[in-house]
Amino acid sequence: MTAGRVRSRWTGSALAAAVVLGGVLATLFVVAGLRTAQHDGSQRVMDQRAQMALAAVRAETDRYRTLLETTAAGIAAGDELNWADFDLASAPLASAGLIGAVAVAYVVPVTTAQIPAAQAHWRAAGTTDLTLRPEPGRDDHYFPVFTRLLNEQDGAGRTGTDLSGVPQPAAALRAAEETMRPTVSDTYVLVRDRGLPAGRQQQSFVFAAPVWTRANDPVFRGWVVLGLRGGDFLAGVLDTVSQGQLDGSLVAVNSDGSRAEVARLSVPGDPDLSRVDPVPVADHVWELGLRADSARLPGAGSRLPVIVLTGGLILTGLLGWLVLVLATGRARARARVEQATAELRAAEVESRKQAGLLGAIMTTLGDGVSVVDGDGRVLLENPAARRLMGVDDVGGHPETWQEHYGAYRADGVTPMPLEEMPLIRALHGEQTDGVEVFIRNAGRPDGVLLSVDGRPLDPSAGLRGAVAVSRDITDLRRYEKDLAIFAGVVAHDLKAPLAIVRGHCELAIEDPGDEQELRYSLSRIIRSVDRMDTLIETLLAYSTARDAPLRIGDVALEPLIREVLQERAAALRGSGPEPEWSVEPLPAVRADPAMLRHVLDNLIGNAFKYVRPGAVPRATVTSGVAAPGWAQIEVSDAGIGIPDPDKARIFESFHRAQGSAAYAGTGLGLAICQRIVDRHGGEIGVEDNPGGGTRFHFTLPAAAVGEDDTMNHIPAEPVGDEDAEVRAALDRALAERAAVLDSRLPGMGALPSAAPSSHDPAAARLHAPVPDHQHQD
Ligand code: ADP
Repeated sequence: MTAGRVRSRWTGSALAAAVVLGGVLATLFVVAGLRTAQHDGSQRVMDQRAQMALAAVRAETDRYRTLLETTAAGIAAGDELNWADFDLASAPLASAGLIGAVAVAYVVPVTTAQIPAAQAHWRAAGTTDLTLRPEPGRDDHYFPVFTRLLNEQDGAGRTGTDLSGVPQPAAALRAAEETMRPTVSDTYVLVRDRGLPAGRQQQSFVFAAPVWTRANDPVFRGWVVLGLRGGDFLAGVLDTVSQGQLDGSLVAVNSDGSRAEVARLSVPGDPDLSRVDPVPVADHVWELGLRADSARLPGAGSRLPVIVLTGGLILTGLLGWLVLVLATGRARARARVEQATAELRAAEVESRKQAGLLGAIMTTLGDGVSVVDGDGRVLLENPAARRLMGVDDVGGHPETWQEHYGAYRADGVTPMPLEEMPLIRALHGEQTDGVEVFIRNAGRPDGVLLSVDGRPLDPSAGLRGAVAVSRDITDLRRYEKDLAIFAGVVAHDLKAPLAIVRGHCELAIEDPGDEQELRYSLSRIIRSVDRMDTLIETLLAYSTARDAPLRIGDVALEPLIREVLQERAAALRGSGPEPEWSVEPLPAVRADPAMLRHVLDNLIGNAFKYVRPGAVPRATVTSGVAAPGWAQIEVSDAGIGIPDPDKARIFESFHRAQGSAAYAGTGLGLAICQRIVDRHGGEIGVEDNPGGGTRFHFTLPAAAVGEDDTMNHIPAEPVGDEDAEVRAALDRALAERAAVLDSRLPGMGALPSAAPSSHDPAAARLHAPVPDHQHQD
């Protein structure tokens, strides 16, 4: 894994983390905003509820107080108060549905001394069963004398009970008398409730309204006292406004400053909002405490924040996951792209290497390779192809190929038809091998014979096309032609000794004669068989010798030529007119001495051979004009000459000029001369000798050898046994051939005439060992 890929993966994870963090923060921010809005909403709702509750409590207490004052005013109207008056005056209280109200009573102040009279009076006024029960140890007593229960369940009214023994109502009564205004007592447990279990006892209080006469000089008569249970009162009042959502507590601030909870109302929930407001109750100011669970308040308890939080977190998670997938997916995609790119680069390097290798192979190949596409456009032509075909540029449309390349059939003259060209045949799906195409153009003026193989392009190349491989078979064809002629000549020459064998055999059968004649025939047969064997062996060796390695050295020409001339002249001595010859001063050359000797020997031998019968053989060796660094040697004679049409062809193997039939020969000597001169880089030619006869000339590289130097026979390179053997075989072959041509039987006309053959100088210049018996013929 590359550093870039790791970085991308980390970048993707970091991006996803950032998205998640951002999403969570945004969600929390929105939730916080919602919570704040909700809180504000719940505060408003709480305020509204608190105001409503406060107003309800105030209204209710005011109503109680007002009703009580009205009752007190009604009681004060009459001079003598009796039960009927009280009943009438308190009737509105009974029908008012006062919440928490227990009873309303008319309370009168009575001193201890007045108790009997007061009891009698109030019994007479309507409370017949009244029994005043004063608190001991006191002089001022407050006795309820009329009691009206406001809640039937509370049982009988508690008339006659001395309230002075209960501090809270007693204080309220006194305060009402003094202030002449309604008062409210501190909280306490009603006397009637003190018998109840502690859990059911409620903090209660009483309203006390003083009753004064309406005379000009008002007289205090007593109090109208309304007793209320705090818990019931609060529950009743708050029930309508809290709707089960508000906790309430009514706290009475007592005269001594102590605070007592009059009532508490609890609702389910976990209150988090609270309000405390003062409530004027008669001469006291109490406190109404309200609490509420904001979650339970309408409009404030929405689950929206939770939903938003949950939804936001889920969305954030999804978004983060999506980003992570996309980012890492991108990283994965990039990794795949990088991998593909790396593979492509490797493939490119490999294909470049392959292309380089292919190019090198194409350049190195000795065979020409040409590739064309389906339309015949040349896609590739290696240097060997261009060299073979002698062109520098590729051919255009196939129609122009014949002219562009100078393509002919193997005969060298018939223009190659397009449909016969191997590449065109290959484009048509045909495989061709060894199609011979002769190329002759400005770059190949002498022409070259090509063997061309054509193939349709392999489908793996990805396009339709064809490929052609061509090789130069000019030399091969020439060699084959030489070989064919050579074989013909050899076969022909083998017939001579065979004819000798057959002739002697027939002679021995038909007329054996004496023993000496028989022995003679048998010895001729054996010799002919030996010659045939030697001929076959040495002629094969001769063909190989054409390519024997050169041993180049500096050679002084003149001594070598004189030696050859003397040997040739000596060989002819006695068989006709004495040969004449002359040699001019000649430069030294760089050549293979043995090969050079062979050239000179052949040319001089021909000069002495091709003369008219009876004429004097003449040979003159002179130096001609040559290019710098080169020497030209000319061999002239006064012989029969060569007809012009033959001059160009006498250097071909086995070609003999017209008029030479009377002279022994194979037509091989000049071909060998040309081959040797060619191998030295020189040229050989023939022309008429101005004085009659023929003049051969050839060039060789000049050497820095003085004219006086003796012939340099030292080989330029070591001579192996094999090489020496080949050369010996070459010489033996020529000598043997000369001997064969010379060996004739009377009456056998298969061979050329005896006279010229006897002049064949080849037979006279033998260096190689030749069987002794050949000279016996
Ligand atoms: P060969 O002499 O065995 O026939 P060469 O290759 O030496 O073969 O010569 C080829 C032919 O050239 C001869 O057959 C002959 O017709 C002709 N020729 C060669 N040298 C001479 C010459 N000096 N004068 C006339 N004709 C010659």
